[in-house]
Amino acid sequence: MDLIVEDAVIVTTAAGAGPADAMLVRDGRIAAVGQAETVRAAAPGAEVVRLGGATVIPGLIDAHCHVADIGYLAAAADCGQPSAPDVAAIQARLRHSAERTPGGSWVTGAGYAEYKLREGRHPTRTELDAAVPNRPAVLYHTSLHVCVLNTAALREAGFADGQPDPVGGAFGRDSEGRLDGVVYEAPMFALFEQNIRRDMAQAGSTGGKLVETAGERLAAFGLTAACDADMRRDTFAAFAEADAAGLLRQRIYGLVVHDQVDWLLGAGLQGRHSGQLATEAVKIWADGGMSSRTAAIHGTYPVPPHGSGILYFEPGELTEMVRAFDARGFQVCIHAQGDRAIEIVLDAYAAVLAPGRGNPRRHRIEHGGAMYPALAARAAALGIVVASQPGFLSSLGDGFAAAFPDSGDQLYSFASWQRAGITVAGSSDAPVITADPRVGIRDAIERRTGDGRLLGPAECLSARDALALYTTHAAYACHRENEIGSLEPDKLADFVVLDQNPLETDAALIPDIGVLATVLGGTPVYQSGSIFPGR
Ligand SMILES: [Zn+2]
Repeated sequence: MDLIVEDAVIVTTAAGAGPADAMLVRDGRIAAVGQAETVRAAAPGAEVVRLGGATVIPGLIDAHCHVADIGYLAAAADCGQPSAPDVAAIQARLRHSAERTPGGSWVTGAGYAEYKLREGRHPTRTELDAAVPNRPAVLYHTSLHVCVLNTAALREAGFADGQPDPVGGAFGRDSEGRLDGVVYEAPMFALFEQNIRRDMAQAGSTGGKLVETAGERLAAFGLTAACDADMRRDTFAAFAEADAAGLLRQRIYGLVVHDQVDWLLGAGLQGRHSGQLATEAVKIWADGGMSSRTAAIHGTYPVPPHGSGILYFEPGELTEMVRAFDARGFQVCIHAQGDRAIEIVLDAYAAVLAPGRGNPRRHRIEHGGAMYPALAARAAALGIVVASQPGFLSSLGDGFAAAFPDSGDQLYSFASWQRAGITVAGSSDAPVITADPRVGIRDAIERRTGDGRLLGPAECLSARDALALYTTHAAYACHRENEIGSLEPDKLADFVVLDQNPLETDAALIPDIGVLATVLGGTPVYQSGSIFPGR
């Protein structure tokens, strides 16, 4: 049945659109947007829902998050701020969590950042042992590039004191050279995957439930589409299961982890599977994380672990990977945070993209934290799309300022990137930080860290540009700009009803704007009240 929403402030984000207070939805798509009389005349028999002056914006798009991980860590002990200000609080939370974690699973906490703890350092295995003495426990860093293990977990993972650092990663060690429980990068990723898989098997779940839990959370934030930046064989199965059961609340665009591509192609699964599930892109990691100080930079970090970061591939190897995936028709999305990594990634793209032909597959850089002006100019000339995370500024920005005392103002320089001509897509990288795009929109405008420092005052965006990150630009970043990202006739009816207009709200208050309803293809997937009764 036709549906008209009217008596609304409609923010279309479409180029050149006139004012609109009504929208007609027909068969899951937008049939008309404009003034109420005109829209009503187009569908005399339509059901009319009056929104009482509420604001309607396009469904928000998270161009880079980890959907299954959001669902998985929803069950972990919250060891982030403000819940756990010091090690004792983390211990209390792990102790409590141990009581309700089924035997066979590891006691799991997540969300801490060492520089935000009162102690200003990572917790140690001994401190975890004191909380959870007799079974494995893991505490994930907010970056998900580092974790801390207790002694039982170290043993079960097969990590021993005398062992050298593994390829693509490192162990923290105490003054006697004993493992202190901290695990960086590659071995941490492997552990995380093992733990998800074991806990899913333990719960007799195929993962559909994780995806459903995550989808409910994302819908409550107004998200109608998300790039899953970590799609693997088992998470694909989870999405496919939820999709078949009609339980996906977002359109999921999968970035398939590079070592899973042979499986994907062998199973004939490259491409679109439904209106809500697609696997057209590949994910590669070039370096480590920004908040874990493992992003590959020129120079050394003035803060622990005092290195220059971790690179995952030799430049030639990376170029050949990009070449092969490009030839197989994939969009390539490479995690690159440090300037040393970004340089190598741009070299790889430059070697593969034919001069003068642009970047037809829209190969991307994920994050791009330290993409300084000369690198941004190169990325713009190559037509590289950047999926980045404004919300890092408030949650992790003080740590960035400590790690980059001379160039902190040039990190995540969204305004400069846009001026250079780069399409910047907004995203959260959740569960690294909250998936809430209202936080990201505020941070893109305000650039305030948790301590109130203004990081890169010249890089603040207007509210309209900040909203574009999560709508039109994010749609472009996943080749969906003809279907989603703005409210225009013939596009999919993905929209959000808000109690305030984000373009006219004091930026600091944007995270307090209420999401009244989230609508996917004309069907509400979240409502805080009952705007759409019976739907
Ligand atoms: Zn990520």
